[in-house]
Amino acid sequence: MSHRILLLGAPGAGKGTQSKRLADEYGVEHVTTGDALRANKDMETEYGTPRSFMEAGDLVPDPVVNEIVEAALADADGFVLDGYPRNLEQAEFLSEITDLDAVVFLDVDDEVLVDRLTGRRVCDECGANYHVDFQPPAEAGVCDECGGELIQREDDTEETARERLQVFYENTEPVIEHFRDEGDLVEVDGEATPDDVFARIGDVLDE
Ligand code: AMP
Repeated sequence: MSHRILLLGAPGAGKGTQSKRLADEYGVEHVTTGDALRANKDMETEYGTPRSFMEAGDLVPDPVVNEIVEAALADADGFVLDGYPRNLEQAEFLSEITDLDAVVFLDVDDEVLVDRLTGRRVCDECGANYHVDFQPPAEAGVCDECGGELIQREDDTEETARERLQVFYENTEPVIEHFRDEGDLVEVDGEATPDDVFARIGDVLDE
């Protein structure tokens, strides 16, 4: 059974949703640089704060994210890693600090990604994900799970979403090619329903 799992995919491909479910299912840590950075947006670093990079849809500098991941993985027995690595330098750093059991790529078409990102709402309290059309909460603006307020991420506007996709194709696509070349990559159709995607990833991990 695989317990060190890397989920790759564009913004909006479903990495967060699937990672949470996988972490619950296998009892491992969900390590996500996006959440870690959102919780520390105004942290002072020698490059400035993460906020300015994130609001522009750009990548936060490698040393900042590498340090977050190294600390998180050092404490984790098994993990699902989500949102990292986003460029080849990060991928090299990752291979120095850990061995992966499985690398899964969630494949989703661009226009679907933009629709998913701009309609996404997240719970301000517990981080649960919703979509105004595809996965609405029972009561508009309120989290089904904890009653928290649903908000739109600042970087989920159409302009920033498209910018993030650009950054993905420039920086992160080479990471996917790298794992594909090494023969480690398993591709899953990320446009299926969340349950079907989850089942398919489960099959991959059991193989
Ligand atoms: P996410 O929640 O994964 O979409 O990440 C939101 C934002 O956080 C990204 O647009 C980047 O600005 C920043 N970020 C998250 N993960 C990384 C990473 N591995 N490297 C650089 N920046 C990151």
